[in-house]
Amino acid sequence: MLPVVALVGRPNVGKSTLFNRLTNTRDALVADFPGLTRDRKYGPAKFENRGFIVVDTGGITGDEEGIDAAMAEQSLLAIDEADVVLFLVDARAGLTPDDIGIAEHLRKQDKAMYLVANKVDGIDGDSETADFFKLGFAEVLQIAAAHGRGVSQMMTHVLTPL
Ligand code: GDP
Ligand code: MG
Repeated sequence: MLPVVALVGRPNVGKSTLFNRLTNTRDALVADFPGLTRDRKYGPAKFENRGFIVVDTGGITGDEEGIDAAMAEQSLLAIDEADVVLFLVDARAGLTPDDIGIAEHLRKQDKAMYLVANKVDGIDGDSETADFFKLGFAEVLQIAAAHGRGVSQMMTHVLTPL
């Protein structure tokens, strides 16, 4: 069985952009409209001769009924079936209440997971992502999915223990 890598996070953080980069497709819908990708989307990917499956999700709806209700069903299913979860946040937008809610939910899961700050292009990554350490992860991986920056380092980090 190939390892399954799920991309989760609130809408517009760049999950579909990362999916497309990892799978070398333009398949996942990327848009400035939050939440446009409604279904889980699977794509085969390869990194340094290692095959894996990437799962894109539509993300969190922002429903006011609380994080469990707000977490889109496909995100829950994606987390469940994943071997490792990449929790994406937006380094340009900074830490948001939804990020905190998602982190609280993820903490209850018994899963390998990594916090990934996307969109570090054109900003000072270290200072702009420092706030994300409040989410309680040991490290904050910095990438710019749209440009590929940091993606190889991230995947080496993510796939090596699997
Ligand atoms: P999703 O809703 O999480 O799937 O996010 P998308 O992949 O649809 O991206 C949302 C927006 O962020 C789009 O306008 C992307 O072009 C933009 N975006 C994604 N990755 C990056 C990045 O690395 N840098 C910058 N500056 N913008 C990005
Ligand atoms: Mg998307």
